[in-house]
Amino acid sequence: MTAPTAKSIDIPQASRVSVVLPLPLAAAYDYVLPEHFLAVPGNFVEVPLGGRSVLGVVWDGPADAPIETRRLKSVRAVLPAPPMSAPLRRFIDWVAAYTLSPTGAVLRMAMSAPSALEAPGHRAGWRLGVVEGQRVTPERARVLAALADGGAMAGDLLAQAAAVTPALLRGMADRGMLVPALLPRAPRFATPDPARPGPSLGPDQAAAAERLRAAVAARGFSVTLLRGVTGSGKTEVYHDAIAECLRAGRQALVLLPEIALSAQWLERFAARFGTTPALWHSELTPATRRDTWRAVAEGAAPVLVGARSALFLPFPDLGLIIVDEEHESAFKQEEGVVYHARDMAVVRARLAQAACVLVSATPSLESIFNAESGRYGVVDLPARHGGAALPTVRALDLRLHPPERGRFLAPPLIEAIKATLARGEQAMLFLNRRGYAPLTLCRSCGHRIQCPNCTAWLVEHRAQRRLACHHCGHAMPTPPNCPSCAAEHSLVPIGPGVERVQEEAAALFPDARRLVMASDSIPGPAAAAEAARRIEAREVDLIIGTQIVAKGWHFPHLTLVGVVDADLGLAGGDLRAAERTVQLLHQVAGRAGRAEAPGEVLLQTYAPDHPVMQALMANDLAAFLAEEKAQRAPGHWPPFGRLAALIVSSEDPQEAARAARDLGLLAPGGQGITVLGPAPAPLALLRGRHRHRLLLKAERGVAVQPVLREWLARAKLPPAVRVQVDVDPVSFL
Ligand code: ADP
Ligand code: ZN
Repeated sequence: MTAPTAKSIDIPQASRVSVVLPLPLAAAYDYVLPEHFLAVPGNFVEVPLGGRSVLGVVWDGPADAPIETRRLKSVRAVLPAPPMSAPLRRFIDWVAAYTLSPTGAVLRMAMSAPSALEAPGHRAGWRLGVVEGQRVTPERARVLAALADGGAMAGDLLAQAAAVTPALLRGMADRGMLVPALLPRAPRFATPDPARPGPSLGPDQAAAAERLRAAVAARGFSVTLLRGVTGSGKTEVYHDAIAECLRAGRQALVLLPEIALSAQWLERFAARFGTTPALWHSELTPATRRDTWRAVAEGAAPVLVGARSALFLPFPDLGLIIVDEEHESAFKQEEGVVYHARDMAVVRARLAQAACVLVSATPSLESIFNAESGRYGVVDLPARHGGAALPTVRALDLRLHPPERGRFLAPPLIEAIKATLARGEQAMLFLNRRGYAPLTLCRSCGHRIQCPNCTAWLVEHRAQRRLACHHCGHAMPTPPNCPSCAAEHSLVPIGPGVERVQEEAAALFPDARRLVMASDSIPGPAAAAEAARRIEAREVDLIIGTQIVAKGWHFPHLTLVGVVDADLGLAGGDLRAAERTVQLLHQVAGRAGRAEAPGEVLLQTYAPDHPVMQALMANDLAAFLAEEKAQRAPGHWPPFGRLAALIVSSEDPQEAARAARDLGLLAPGGQGITVLGPAPAPLALLRGRHRHRLLLKAERGVAVQPVLREWLARAKLPPAVRVQVDVDPVSFL
């Protein structure tokens, strides 16, 4: 090897880079990249900002701030982490534009483990790019020779081996002759084995699996709705798609709505693939978080199952995204960057040229609409596996069968539970409300104990002797006397929560072994796994739970489900109340009778003729959803039109009202656009902020983002007023 001569060293001008910082800033910032650094779009860098050092990502495109280069600050370091891929950068840009969020706020979700960027011994490197048509100087020839075996090398080692400067490598990278590469490291997540056999599939299952495998093997973008009744084997079928993705050497991401409750899911995955996948959720320890993020970035986590935030992990080559229980509103993030993980999963799949599979027994109207209009493929599993019948669903009319005074279970439900327990089978009582009672009332003066920060009653949690707000977390000891009139022994609980149902069950079925499953009693994955184990081992006879019992569980000995208040979700009556109630109750009902013994479901209701109850009893969601669509289509309600909500809030009630009114006066008009409101939000006070809502409704062809952007730009609002933009709102509170 010849030593470089001074004149062969190519000295480029100091270059400028634009860097996006994980902060709610509207724009990228420009920095100077000192000559001794190599950085391409996607590289993580450390830069100075207002006297401190922050981490950011080199973004694409020319830096264009009208500032002279000599006035710019310099990049302090290029971090030794694999650069963020172009598809992920485009995804971040896309989410920011769609949700009207600053790019940095979205980037922040993709940099949720900053310590992973600095782990020692991890390095980014270079491999050969396209050389054709480029001038090959002797220096460049040495670089090409050093990489001739097709491997990748760290920048400093490559510069040393080829006896060139880092600047020369950067020049080659600019021309595409070099591309960033990951240096191989030992993977920390065992690779699930796609060759292990799954169960032998029934004909419908086999056909469905074949379709999904083909979608993955095509290595291109597609969306498939996997629709199958509860217990039809959807999970087994999509395992085949994961196996195909592993064979293709790409990564698979599975999104679950309630990852903390994924114990059974993980067990089934391990049974099929011989190892558990990487996990991503908010309860991970910082160290696991860092290692997982890093492993994903290095392509060393072949399958990852996670909550919605996993969508922003740095997969280098995502081949498959599965959204299980795609209809779940838990996929909607309501704070910060307001986005729907199901919809964004489709976008991420498109940018990554990956297959996306949306899975549900009760798909959202949005997905059904997309399937019917041909945008998504559909695969149906019409029957339960192994010939198990769907449960029989009956309404229990509370007007005809009222519970005893102060009780909540009607006599026919009590009898059904007794009979089930007598047969040695398991029963479940479902009530989607935590705590003991949703309201505490003074019998003497009528005072209701309310949250000081929210438009909400305080919920009694009797075991802890506390009243708590389920919106802001405000809590106080249960007072002995009425806080308003000071009457003694006058406070009474009104209505049931699961704890109160458990109390009633204890009195009615003293010998039954009971288990309460709510987010307070099942706080995390370990507790959920233990609960599932006890139920499977038949150490439990009666399960009393909130919506956490509705999802995904497979308990073969559970044959009776009693829904304590089937009308609960219909109160309030927003656009999606009926759809949501049908989905939730159908899921709960689907827990019953999943093995040989037939299942039975009793819905306690005051409205047995309501279309929701009728649809559940007939097990005919298609007809219900068709009816629901027919109602939404004429008014251009979603999915036949678009909605975006603006939530205007301030700690000062007058200021909030004024700002909402001002925004209302500036409301955009035009073809196919209507603005509803402003009106006080149903949750008029939340965490001490007074809230008003405006709703923009547009026909499907209208792009709402430019309209919203222009609208907000025209409004001059006081700094203490916050306007949260919620595109495609799910909640109307
Ligand atoms: P879904 O996700 O549609 O509710 P699951 O995938 O949970 O259905 O399947 C329900 C139960 O039936 C599970 O215990 C599953 O292991 C079992 N099962 C489904 N398909 C088969 C099959 N082909 N062979 C054996 N067991 C199966
Ligand atoms: Zn509150």
